[in-house]
Amino acid sequence: MHNFQYQANAANVIFGSGTIHRLPSELKRLGLHSPLLLSTSQQVSQAEHIKAALKSQVAGIFAGAVMHTPVEVTGEAIKAARASGCDSLISIGGGSTIGLGKAISFRTGLYHLAIPTTYAGSEATPILGETEHGRKTTRSDSKILPGTIIYDVDLTMTLPASMSTVSGINAIAHAVDALQARNGNPIVSLMAQQGIKALVQSLPIIHQDPSNHDARSKALYGAWLCGMCLGSVGMSLHHKLCHTLGGSFNLPHAETHAIILPHALAYNAPEITGVMAILDALLPSDDGDAIQGFNQLLERLEIKRDLKSFGFQEGDIAKAADIACINPYWNPRQVEKPLIQELLRRAWAGEQAK
Ligand code: NAD
Repeated sequence: MHNFQYQANAANVIFGSGTIHRLPSELKRLGLHSPLLLSTSQQVSQAEHIKAALKSQVAGIFAGAVMHTPVEVTGEAIKAARASGCDSLISIGGGSTIGLGKAISFRTGLYHLAIPTTYAGSEATPILGETEHGRKTTRSDSKILPGTIIYDVDLTMTLPASMSTVSGINAIAHAVDALQARNGNPIVSLMAQQGIKALVQSLPIIHQDPSNHDARSKALYGAWLCGMCLGSVGMSLHHKLCHTLGGSFNLPHAETHAIILPHALAYNAPEITGVMAILDALLPSDDGDAIQGFNQLLERLEIKRDLKSFGFQEGDIAKAADIACINPYWNPRQVEKPLIQELLRRAWAGEQAK
């Protein structure tokens, strides 16, 4: 056994079906009386539902969360929080809403309870990505980690099948990068393998039948494990490329992760033979390796494979490669700009990874 270091992220995690009903007792346990509920405008009805369940115990709803956590929205939300006299925050939604909860909590010290409804995994990480003047910056601090996470599979049932599958691949990408991390360790490796397995098994079922409760439950469990991987160890080329494409070209988060994953894995494959052996077993394919396994899984899930569908231009490839190579994250294979440019070209065109 190699030497390793493992830092556990300490949140109180409540997982299951109907667990939203544990919210009042969790608030009581924490001595909190007036949370501000956070959501996107699309999910305000879920926030209203929770407000009704908490009866008088709510300071208000701020339904202005949007993708990539712009600091202007955080400023507005902090004003709303102060005006409401809230003593805590409850974010109900995907990574965008949870990002807003983290941004407010980090600046105000308000307790943050997260109720995730996608598979993005932000709730399980001490990482906050924010945008200001069109640039995305990321910081990591233990104070950013939500104090409580309530996973209630019932709240994920409304996530459309197409969003569920790309969100699930976004989660798998955290685990794939964690398996290759420089600071990887056996605990994270276990979580990564179990997380990938749960999602690889459940996503095709959700694709066929989004109302399948067991598959939804398994996917949410996998998403939690993959989120813990993201929050525990360093990410490499895959995440650097996706942060570049999201932050500088405004490409959609989960869809971009789903397109890049097999390409970034194919790039690193020659340097991570041990990891590839693990992934080959988790993603069996007709011709043997995990890269083909991912190609086939994405096809089966009918996920779009080309960045050009999302507005990324062929003329942007060189600029994106420049940005991704300026300050690369640590990567098991040296990051070489001409090869990254070719990787991005393939992803732009929607070619299969190989
Ligand atoms: P999202 O939060 O933007 O959600 C996408 C859309 O789906 C929104 O309109 C949302 O309201 C809706 N939605 C969410 N759950 C739903 C449900 N159950 N039913 C119906 N509609 C639902 O998307 P996301 O992919 O979850 O999050 C992306 C954002 O999260 C990005 O900004 C990304 O950078 C961030 N993120 C951060 C971390 C981190 O650790 N800091 C990790 C992952 C993602």
